[in-house]
Amino acid sequence: MELILAGRNLRILFQDITTLLLDPQAFRDTTDLFVERYKDKDITVVAGVEARGFIFGPPIALAIGAKFVPIRKPKKLPGEVISEEYSLEYGTDKIEMHVGAVQPNDRVLIVDDLIATGGTLCAAAKLIERVGAKVVECACVIELPELKLLMKLIIVRFASNVANT
Ligand code: 5GP
Repeated sequence: MELILAGRNLRILFQDITTLLLDPQAFRDTTDLFVERYKDKDITVVAGVEARGFIFGPPIALAIGAKFVPIRKPKKLPGEVISEEYSLEYGTDKIEMHVGAVQPNDRVLIVDDLIATGGTLCAAAKLIERVGAKVVECACVIELPELKLLMKLIIVRFASNVANT
């Protein structure tokens, strides 16, 4: 996508994962990497963040024998929900999860396609911690390279969570 700002051409890069899905072997190899990492970590829930976490989360959940729980945009889930608001560059957004879908004794892996600022994953982690469950790790297919430092901070946070179990 091209954006003209103050007379300059800015190129906005949208990282598209749909081409990966057109190659069954590449799609399988991608999910297998996660399955290999998480199969022996006693994960009981894979929580996928709308929308592309719904693509990568379920095959991982099935392979490691965990439940799949969707974390959705507001007003999409039919039952009673708990919600978590988070900041965007301009304004706020919200995500929701069904009450009772995640139990206090669950060990949760959160899955999304991409981490940019980390705001979405942090909100998802807060939602899960609020019901008393343990967030073991967050897993994404793509990390935007300029955000490596933030990513490290998040990994340190979850690594310390794991160390405390
Ligand atoms: P964050 O909250 O980390 O800033 O943004 C991550 C969320 O925005 C993810 O749910 C991700 O799906 C979506 N997102 C932001 N930028 C892109 C992009 O370039 N490509 C894709 N596929 N998703 C994006």
